[in-house]
Amino acid sequence: MGYDNIVIVGASAAGAYVARSLEKSLPTSHRIILIERLDYMYHPISALRGSVVAGKEHLSFADLDRFFGQDSRHVVLQATSVTALSPSSVTISSIFEGSDTIPFERAVLALGSSYPVPGRPSSTNKAEAIEGQRRIQRDVAAASSVLIVGGGPVGVEFAGELRSVDRQKKVQLVTSGQTLLQGPFKPSLQKSLLEGLARIDVPVRFNAKVDLPSDVKTLELLPQQRSFSLSDGTEVEADLVMIATGARPNTSLLIESGFSRALDDEKRIKVDAKTLRVLDEGLQNYYSLGDCANAPGTKTHVAAKFQAPVVASQLLSDLGGARAKVYSAPPSIMVVPLGTSAGASQLFGLVLGAWITSFMKGKSLFVDDFKKLYASA
Ligand SMILES: Cc1cc2nc3c(=O)[nH]c(=O)nc-3n(C[C@H](O)[C@H](O)[C@H](O)COP(=O)(O)OP(=O)(O)OC[C@H]3O[C@@H](n4cnc5c(N)ncnc54)[C@H](O)[C@@H]3O)c2cc1C
Repeated sequence: MGYDNIVIVGASAAGAYVARSLEKSLPTSHRIILIERLDYMYHPISALRGSVVAGKEHLSFADLDRFFGQDSRHVVLQATSVTALSPSSVTISSIFEGSDTIPFERAVLALGSSYPVPGRPSSTNKAEAIEGQRRIQRDVAAASSVLIVGGGPVGVEFAGELRSVDRQKKVQLVTSGQTLLQGPFKPSLQKSLLEGLARIDVPVRFNAKVDLPSDVKTLELLPQQRSFSLSDGTEVEADLVMIATGARPNTSLLIESGFSRALDDEKRIKVDAKTLRVLDEGLQNYYSLGDCANAPGTKTHVAAKFQAPVVASQLLSDLGGARAKVYSAPPSIMVVPLGTSAGASQLFGLVLGAWITSFMKGKSLFVDDFKKLYASA
């Protein structure tokens, strides 16, 4: 039997939650085709611990081939990239049902963002990506002086993970910001994290940019101590640099497909703030969510999880289904552990301390939720 296709590009948080919201409610005439360029799935939230603590590298990896049940009509195409978009079909890097073109009725772009390792994996192949994390563990263990560049949650959290396994090496954090965690966060959260870093002997330099030569790669051990110039005229020494300067949306596919006008100034896909439908007349059959889309609010796993049921219900409504939900951004939540038992959080405007931070994230890093998401329903 021929099905009408609903294509989802990207099977990380955003794409996977949309697929889960749709799989049981799509009309039987339709099937999901979930396309992912990796041959596995990756959980960035546990990747900092996985790159520092020996034996924890498996926390961030799950298989994708059992995402839909064995007898499901829905399909996963893993180790497959979408290489071009057109109004009612996508081109893929492999052959599916005799063709490299998949026609669809609706498509969802969940392309995410790119980030230096280990924020995103080092390879599209699972065995290589796991080995990549083990290599980082070895380099981190061998380093005597670590420079963390960036004062956002990733840089701060990395310092905590590092200190949970090593109290000896020198660790310092340099940020171009005036505070830790730039954004809609309370000064008491920033202060609490700064004090937490001081307690584990990680000094922070503010308002300084590090001049990083192009041969210095994130989390690759340098042959010897090297001196790095800062924009404030001073220098810092390190034999390992961790670059944590933020994510970039993965949207070159739209430019290559001739849809650059669908991107905003930050290269995110322009979407309607309520329906999450792509705002481009050539891409009217597309929705977009997660890190690659310019929906209001922060770019987080939590936001993608809130957006997915909206995309699913809008899409079902297009197919003649129930009334569609509209999106409203969740309150910005920030949970920053420093290892398994310290850290600070901001939830619904309240700043909370180590116990709740460890309980919510520091101990578990949401690994069980990640593994459950990819286990067959
Ligand atoms: C270290 C770290 C810790 C974090 N901690 C938290 C946290 O505690 N809480 C929180 O809410 N958020 C956290 N985040 C942010 C969170 O990881 C992201 O917001 C989330 O991963 C976004 O999900 P996404 O599906 O939109 O994008 P991504 O996770 O980037 O996934 C996009 C997927 O699309 C695939 N893809 C891209 N292009 C193509 C193509 N052309 N063809 C096929 N497949 C393609 C990619 O391979 C990828 O799997 C953290 C991020 C980092 C780096």
